[in-house]
Amino acid sequence: MKNYIYNPIMALLVSLLPLTSSIAATLIHTGTLIDSTSNKVKSNMTIVVDDNTITAVEKGFIAPQSNDKLIDLSDYTLMPGFMDMHTHLSMQHNGPETYTEGFILNEADFAIKGVIYAKRTLMAGFTTVRNLGDGYNETVALRNAINKGMVSGPRIYTAAKSIATTGGHADPTNGTSQSIMGDPGPKDGVINGVAEARKAVRQRYKEGADLIKITATGGVLSVAKSGQNPQFMIDELEAIVETANDYGMTVAVHAHGKEGMLRAIKAGVTSIEHGTYMDKEVMSQMKKHGTYYVPTIMAGNWVAEKAKIEGFFPTLVRPKAAKIGPLIQNTFAKAHKAGVKIAFGTDSGVSAHGDNGLEFQLMVEAGMKPIEAIRSATINTAELLQIENTLGTIEVGKLADLVAVKGDPLSDISLLQNVSFVMKNGEVYKHL
Ligand SMILES: [Zn+2]
Repeated sequence: MKNYIYNPIMALLVSLLPLTSSIAATLIHTGTLIDSTSNKVKSNMTIVVDDNTITAVEKGFIAPQSNDKLIDLSDYTLMPGFMDMHTHLSMQHNGPETYTEGFILNEADFAIKGVIYAKRTLMAGFTTVRNLGDGYNETVALRNAINKGMVSGPRIYTAAKSIATTGGHADPTNGTSQSIMGDPGPKDGVINGVAEARKAVRQRYKEGADLIKITATGGVLSVAKSGQNPQFMIDELEAIVETANDYGMTVAVHAHGKEGMLRAIKAGVTSIEHGTYMDKEVMSQMKKHGTYYVPTIMAGNWVAEKAKIEGFFPTLVRPKAAKIGPLIQNTFAKAHKAGVKIAFGTDSGVSAHGDNGLEFQLMVEAGMKPIEAIRSATINTAELLQIENTLGTIEVGKLADLVAVKGDPLSDISLLQNVSFVMKNGEVYKHL
């Protein structure tokens, strides 16, 4: 029997030939281009997308060649895909029911929620998110399914399960009866001491997390008394950061109170989420250490609004929501003025997924220029994720994550809540 000799080079050429001859570029004509490389805006531009990459950004409306596809967005403003640095894609607050869900639903239920909310998020123009806490590492599976093209959703950078201390914000058995409270440990996202801190980070790495999320102070929605007390010791924070660094992971920190923020910033964490009681000292430490602020104004306003409804929150939660919630927009205004690095984030999953674009409006209301708000959700977030070489601006060589709205979002920021066009990785997901 004759043996055929396999020639890898020839095999490669043969496999490429029919592809290269049939691939055509996509030309996008945009009336206004906000490319996020600067605060400048360009008119009447053509963006050429080849496969998943931007291969040209040219002045004027270039006519397509024979095989090329033309997308006419000449009445639209084109921007890089938005990025939300604080989401919980596999859950969404649903009033009193939220507090019993953990006893009724299974892991699979949260996974299915994730599929639905991920699509909603992408359709709102958010092509990349950080997921800062889930119940069963279901967002690791969701991320993988999206990357494989099995379901539609944003690129996910997930922290998987959040890490707390015993009784701290994100201890999964807070507020339960002692018969089911148990004694959760590092694997479940609860640590005490340096050894457990290291173990929890390594466990997340093993489970496929991209980054680490910790809850450095009390929080609003957990069934526990304090919304702001420090909940990690300095040595625990240092152990978290050092171990995360060893595994190439950044650390996102939920924090409302000042002391918890100061400890975390000094330990070298990457971002402070919410940051409600941040003062001048905290801001200057953030600037000194290059720490990002992810404001989540939407979540603050949402909990403040819901706190007015009798019975919406448990008794322990309601006063925290009423007190802490309304402060975040003002904290954001001060931090922005002070020059703290801002990365866009909503805490969606508290408020409804798909409403993410409202945060732009709240940032502008608090004094940020519209173009800066857009940059906070594109280039700033790309830098926070350390993916600024491939995403975050519209430039030759970058991946084609593009969104468009009809009209001028710089004169009406609320237009960003109404995205008409979404391309992710060169593929069109929405075109109204
Ligand atoms: Zn959150």
